[in-house]
Amino acid sequence: MKIGVLALQGSFAEHLVALKKLTVDTTEVRLPEHLDGLDGLIIPGGESTTMGKLAVAYNLLDAMKTFGQRRPIWGTCAGAILLSKNVSRDQPLLGLMDIKVRRNAFGRQVDSFEIDLDIPELKQATGAQEDYHAVFIRAPIIESVGEGVKILASLPDGRIVAARQGRLLATSFHPELTNDTRFHEYFLTLVD
Ligand code: GLN
Repeated sequence: MKIGVLALQGSFAEHLVALKKLTVDTTEVRLPEHLDGLDGLIIPGGESTTMGKLAVAYNLLDAMKTFGQRRPIWGTCAGAILLSKNVSRDQPLLGLMDIKVRRNAFGRQVDSFEIDLDIPELKQATGAQEDYHAVFIRAPIIESVGEGVKILASLPDGRIVAARQGRLLATSFHPELTNDTRFHEYFLTLVD
């Protein structure tokens, strides 16, 4: 199994570390041909407008769209924004997931926070029963999901922060920034 991490900007190095801990073969994706032969792709956190513009400049946006029609993609934070169909503003998106996202939904950088979340599908997939410690940094929320999208995690006030549509996964938070590799393990269960 070989997993690529989009390495244009943002927290790609941290995702690579997590995947290596799980002894998965990895590739840094910077050009369309780097997607060849991959079994799945992770789009890291960072800044979604910058990442989207760079993806357009390197001809990666369409290549990733095609990739995501048959292979798993997981977007964390800015990556979740790129996966979405609708962010209520004009910026390059993959538009693969039927989710509406609101950027910077919790306010500014100083309003970043961490919280333990109960994520039943994660517990089921990994067998570990502890809640998941989630890190939110200038995070988006998933305002609404379309048919066929499963909500995986919400905050205590009900705001959606993780969802899955088939083999496409979006998390508002950053599993690459903790030592808990359960979310990466879970993503690997979506990969053939
Ligand atoms: N605020 C960023 C954006 O809107 C996302 C932040 C992150 O990935 N930590 O793109």
